[in-house]
Amino acid sequence: MPFEALQKELDQRTALGLLRQRRTLQSPQSPHIVVDGKSYLSFCSNDYLGLANHPRLVSALQQGAAQYGVGAGAAHLVSGHTHVHQQLELELAVFVGKPAALLFSTGYMANLGVVQALVGKGDSVFADKLNHASLNDAMQMSRASVKRYRHNDIAQLALLLEQTVSGRKLIISDAVFSMDGDLAPLPELLALCEQHDAWLLIDDAHGFGVLGDQGRGTLAHFNIASPRIIYMATLGKAAGVFGAFVAAKQVVIDTLINHANSYVYTTATPPALSSALLESLRLITQGEEQRAHLQQLIARLRSGLRGLPWRLMPSTTPIQPVLVGDNQSALKLSAGLQERGIWVAAIRPPTVPQGTARLRITLSAAHSVTDVTRLIETLHELAR
Ligand SMILES: *Cc1c(COP(=O)(O)O)cnc(C)c1O
Repeated sequence: MPFEALQKELDQRTALGLLRQRRTLQSPQSPHIVVDGKSYLSFCSNDYLGLANHPRLVSALQQGAAQYGVGAGAAHLVSGHTHVHQQLELELAVFVGKPAALLFSTGYMANLGVVQALVGKGDSVFADKLNHASLNDAMQMSRASVKRYRHNDIAQLALLLEQTVSGRKLIISDAVFSMDGDLAPLPELLALCEQHDAWLLIDDAHGFGVLGDQGRGTLAHFNIASPRIIYMATLGKAAGVFGAFVAAKQVVIDTLINHANSYVYTTATPPALSSALLESLRLITQGEEQRAHLQQLIARLRSGLRGLPWRLMPSTTPIQPVLVGDNQSALKLSAGLQERGIWVAAIRPPTVPQGTARLRITLSAAHSVTDVTRLIETLHELAR
């Protein structure tokens, strides 16, 4: 039976320390979560501003459901596009400084849709080797020719662009790298786009709400703008809800509405999510204090983790990975923390390159300085 082959593959993964398993939460997302009846101090959500369980979002969602019901009932192009989806798109576009925006169900689907709608056979996609898996899948599906450059290696990217003579060109990069926490050099990427008449697709899943004035994202952080930039961000991380959007020139948005399969052939998200997201945008805009607190926590963590046997990777964002190396050691460290009531996920290949298994610590404005101090002290204890 072919099932035996499946089991064998899973057994091999287990032997390599690569088996993935889920744990079940019995509490809302927050720094303090309950898993299998035990409480943990958690450092692994992407809820950077602590909005996922914010009372104003809960209430906006309830009000949205009372007004629009639960299901959208159809795709956006049929009868699923409601007033509140439309309102959210308008506000998102203004918030990130783009002429238009389009909601997608998830970030994964947004990336598939954009790349597939903009490039195809005969075109070229240039992608950072550490881009998110959804971007990698998107370029494979687009059938464009794929050219991957070393992480943030502008010189190599320039060379690849020079060697490409025909077809459309699309450069793709995470703005904040999801497993490393460092930033892409967006001004340099944009300059190359201008030089080579290319588009720049930026995935700001981890910058939106966190970086830039009023949390407007990584473009605001770098103070750059260009019609060449196609901006994508997710709404299930700092925004605390669910979904994603793409913001760009109107002609790009119209192209997506007509050609992005992951937009056209799927049911619209529940309208009440958009009600919650409108409230989330207000909280993000007013969240200067939360973002300042987050910066304080980052500084505290980085200074506190000096002198550990594992290398703290260079990052100025709430993603603060501790590089361990081999899979079993990373799992062991994560398990040691867990025994002491702290939850940090061990990230292993293929999510990260071979030999770079790590603890991916993520900080949230909902953490206290005491929470971070406890993590620092526990890691020092485990190092001894
Ligand atoms: C989380 C993430 C996505 C996927 O977004 P979802 O809304 O969770 O599907 C895409 N890109 C990056 C960089 C991410 O971190």
